[in-house]
Amino acid sequence: MRTNSRVGSIALSTTIALDTRAKDLIAAGRDVVNMSVGEPDFPAPMAAQDAAVAAVRAGRVRYTAAEGTTSLRKAIAEHVSQTRGVAYAPAEITVCHSAKHALSGAILALVEPGDEVVCLLPAWVSYVEILRYSGARPVEIPSRRDLGPDLAAIERAIGPRTRGILLNSPNNPSGYVMSESEVRAIAALAERHDLWIVTDEIYRRLVYGGAPNFSPASISPAVRARTVIVDGASKAFAMTGYRIGYVAAPEELAAAVGRLHSQLTGCPNAVSQAAFEACLKVEPPEVQRMCEEFQRRRDVLVAGLRSLGLPCELPRGAFYAFPDVARFLDARGSAGFCEDLLEEVGLALVPGSAFGVDAHVRLSYATSIATIEQALERLGRFLAKRNPRAPAGTAR
Ligand code: PMP
Ligand code: GLU
Repeated sequence: MRTNSRVGSIALSTTIALDTRAKDLIAAGRDVVNMSVGEPDFPAPMAAQDAAVAAVRAGRVRYTAAEGTTSLRKAIAEHVSQTRGVAYAPAEITVCHSAKHALSGAILALVEPGDEVVCLLPAWVSYVEILRYSGARPVEIPSRRDLGPDLAAIERAIGPRTRGILLNSPNNPSGYVMSESEVRAIAALAERHDLWIVTDEIYRRLVYGGAPNFSPASISPAVRARTVIVDGASKAFAMTGYRIGYVAAPEELAAAVGRLHSQLTGCPNAVSQAAFEACLKVEPPEVQRMCEEFQRRRDVLVAGLRSLGLPCELPRGAFYAFPDVARFLDARGSAGFCEDLLEEVGLALVPGSAFGVDAHVRLSYATSIATIEQALERLGRFLAKRNPRAPAGTAR
């Protein structure tokens, strides 16, 4: 059966496709180290597990309001107000089926066909696809060498059709955490050019060392009025399969996302809403322990990559390293590199091309230190056989 052109041109999410492939190979008996997908390898906090079981046992498994239960919206509003230092009311929160669902809901509610939306590279795989599906034209802006935002390039790219900008800090795939002054500078551009800002803060809780992540919503009432925060339970609470997220935005936009979802998906999962609410109310102790473990793994992985001669910025957030492998690429780019890596030494990574930056590959360190060490050993063996093209760091 022929699909329409809007869906026909959508690619399967590369991260999900590669994870599925690695898992299929493992199930077929192949020895594969999988560092492709980004999902915490920790159990959800006990508070989430207990609340989910209790909700099922008590029969709280009916449809809820499309925007989520009143008590969860209140808990999220309090959480957002406290963590972003600016008051949000429950009416400004719409609970969604995931952060991906929150992001797509916000974009579908904002974009008119033909609008240009600025998207900073490297960009998580789904941004460009969701923007295209919405009818927008994504305007992709290369980063600085250190993978931070190039403010001058952003300003140059803004034209008469530009309506919005998508931010993601901490960033997937680079782990780059924007400084407060970078966020302020981008918000100033958004004000000057009358752009909306969608800020994907799903990794907000996972920052190591440095300052906490800074949200544009915290800047001023005027910036908050043009900002949509996207966040959820998947990363901070290791609740990927629960599928729960939210938008925090001016009431008109939050309500529009709720109306859209009332027609498309009904309401978010009742059990997961209960589990998420329990986590927001207690700040589970597991979260801090998980962050500390991620930081240890990051340090082992980045030191290992650098000792293999791969330039790698220190990721200050999320759980990905994004080394530069330009010297080792042939005409097939990072996709070919990852194909060969899987075939020759059984290591599954995600090519940088999936994020719009072909000179890099992404390794998820949401996996044990033993697995990271195995991955480094395999990568070392693979690189030793591959002829480097030019001195490190000369191509991007
Ligand atoms: N944004 C980014 C940057 C992500 O890496 C992810 C991970 N899948 C999401 C959004 C979506 O998270 P989820 O749909 O699991 O809530
Ligand atoms: N965000 C994760 C990743 O980048 C999960 C996969 C996905 O949703 O694309 O690997």
